[in-house]
Amino acid sequence: MDSSIKPSLGRTAFITGGAQGIGQAIAIRLAKDGYDISIAEIPTAKERLDATIKEIEGLGRKAIGVFADVRKPEQIYAAIEETVQKLGPTLYISIANAGVAQVKPLLECTPEFIENEVSINFLGLMNTHIAAAKQMIKQGLGGRIIGAGSILSFRTAECLSPYSATKFAVKGFTEAAAKEWAKYNIRVNAYAPGIVDTPMWEHIDAEFAKIEGIPIGEARARWVKRDVKLGRTQQPEDVAKLVSWLVSDEAEYITGQTIKTCGGASL
Ligand code: NAD
Repeated sequence: MDSSIKPSLGRTAFITGGAQGIGQAIAIRLAKDGYDISIAEIPTAKERLDATIKEIEGLGRKAIGVFADVRKPEQIYAAIEETVQKLGPTLYISIANAGVAQVKPLLECTPEFIENEVSINFLGLMNTHIAAAKQMIKQGLGGRIIGAGSILSFRTAECLSPYSATKFAVKGFTEAAAKEWAKYNIRVNAYAPGIVDTPMWEHIDAEFAKIEGIPIGEARARWVKRDVKLGRTQQPEDVAKLVSWLVSDEAEYITGQTIKTCGGASL
């Protein structure tokens, strides 16, 4: 048996957007840490979702995939409900990870473009946090709630202005929710990655290539060279390591924080 796989804790972690990238790495890491896993995804992610669930079951954990678009609050509540029905009233961790990074100069952003960015990255996160907190409070076990921030929770970037605004909002809401829910022994924090090798950055790079008329790969290479002091792009597992620690008792005195894991990219 792989010694990195811990015994079952009989507790569940719920993760939105966990079929690829950072969310998938977090799901796998928390499964290894001993948690059963519920992943909420959009229907177009079905194949990736099934493969991720199979991989987690292969680690000896219970795992389910549920379809929920975080733009639809009723689907988030239903996903939490289904999680509890299938895995038990043991929801201990909720990770509002789902996000999109749309790239456009601000003056070209239509109302629909802005609404989509805000409704996934920020409204989706708020609704996920609240739905999870309600279940955790009902159970009375306390809990750990984590959201996806970014280095763009701390500084902005041209052509990523609405994205950046949503990530600033995540930082604010993390502080507000931490204050309100500390009395229930629920800690609320966020991770703030830099430039992570995921399909999201493939998309960002391709969009900058179109806008600037440069070859694929050039924008990402420029960001890494200019910003990342540790000199390499980040792997999703780097973010999962931070989350694993943040939800553990080692971080028992930490709440309301948006913690950078970015190789110095925000300095
Ligand atoms: P990704 O695009 O690779 O994966 C995002 C996942 O979210 C996908 O599986 C997608 O199907 C799912 N998703 C998209 N819209 C959804 C919706 N409406 N409802 C439910 N699920 C939905 O992204 P990633 O790079 O893994 O990023 C994960 C999170 O981390 C995002 O919130 C992102 O903003 C943040 N982040 C990423 C980076 C990076 O460099 N990749 C840096 C900082 C922050």
